[in-house]
Amino acid sequence: MEKKHMHISYQSDNLAYPEIIIDDETEEEKPKKTLIVIDMQNDFIDGALGTKEAVAIVDNVKKKIKEYADRGDEIIFTQDTHHEGYLWTNEGKHLPVEHCIEGSNGWKIREGLYVEGSPCILKFSFGYTGWKDYDLEDVELVGLCTDICVVSNALIIKALYPEIPVKVDSSCCAGVTPESHEAALQTMKMCQVEIL
Ligand SMILES: [Zn+2]
Repeated sequence: MEKKHMHISYQSDNLAYPEIIIDDETEEEKPKKTLIVIDMQNDFIDGALGTKEAVAIVDNVKKKIKEYADRGDEIIFTQDTHHEGYLWTNEGKHLPVEHCIEGSNGWKIREGLYVEGSPCILKFSFGYTGWKDYDLEDVELVGLCTDICVVSNALIIKALYPEIPVKVDSSCCAGVTPESHEAALQTMKMCQVEIL
């Protein structure tokens, strides 16, 4: 049976409504799958802001990265990045614990996780605001922390790409506390992020 292919475009800023294009393509294009690995850095695992829950997800994240890498799917890493004078920044005033200072061991992505050639985004705030440049089609987020940077980026991506599936694997995320991890998963679920 011939399948109609519907394409909804949100790319144009000039349109009041999304452009809906229905064409006669018989072959369904497979969406590009992207794994976004948020801030799997030493300081968030067992460094300045480490938790035992974060340590416990490292192997799961490693497995997940391998699945995407083996299929040849896209993997993007982010790295929380601060500099000298962190304590005087707004984040530093709320969280007076120096972490992820560029170049330090705590700033580095956990050994064995990074896939050579993958983009690595240096992120100076919780949510990255440049996702619109990445042509995302199907996204899964994993990493740290569920309740700060995972939720921030999931919701930014939801806002920029309302028609794509956005998933978060809860076994590959950890929060500042188990309670705030659960609360963030609930918030994302309510915002139609698929929680795996
Ligand atoms: Zn930070």
